[in-house]
Amino acid sequence: MNSFKADRTLPKLEVVFTPQEIGHAVARLAKDIRQDYHDKTPLLIGTLKGAFVFMADLIRSLDILLEVDFVTLSSYGPGTTQSLGEVTMMHSLHTPIEGKHVLVIEDIVDEGQTLSFLIEYLHTQNPISVKVCAMFDKPSRRRFPVTIDYLGLTVPDAFVVGYGLDYDEKYRNLPGLHCLSE
Ligand code: 5GP
Repeated sequence: MNSFKADRTLPKLEVVFTPQEIGHAVARLAKDIRQDYHDKTPLLIGTLKGAFVFMADLIRSLDILLEVDFVTLSSYGPGTTQSLGEVTMMHSLHTPIEGKHVLVIEDIVDEGQTLSFLIEYLHTQNPISVKVCAMFDKPSRRRFPVTIDYLGLTVPDAFVVGYGLDYDEKYRNLPGLHCLSE
């Protein structure tokens, strides 16, 4: 356990995955991605803000030539655990993706709406290929069908925080994954 102390006005935290379990999953993903992309110089596109921790760990485990960019997508309002039901792209790519092998780096796939919106957008920009790597997946919540080519860990149907994921912008710095309980 870490020594992070929750604000007493916020809910209690329960461990879902330890930093060690997450580390093993990242190493496995890096091995699989390396095998498929070592000769392709992929462009890894991270979804902010949630994927920034995962992206940082993943690229440092990948000893291949690659490029990095980020998009900011939002479907959640501040201080809520419910999706607002509509995805907005608040910051788009800095890098043209035409003719590139794109690998989307997603923090967590829940209903799948964010990812399907992003994939549809990316395909309009004429990349050679688009694949998806997600650190966490909540398959029981899926409403929009999406293919996850590289998956880290499956989580139960609960709102989780840590490892880049927030509740009202808090908890992103927790090294493990936790769920909020009453
Ligand atoms: P989807 O469109 O798949 O329902 O939602 C994907 C996005 O919602 C994720 O990129 C993440 O930002 C947010 N999200 C979904 N589930 C959770 C969760 O359990 N915890 C947190 N902190 N964010 C989540």
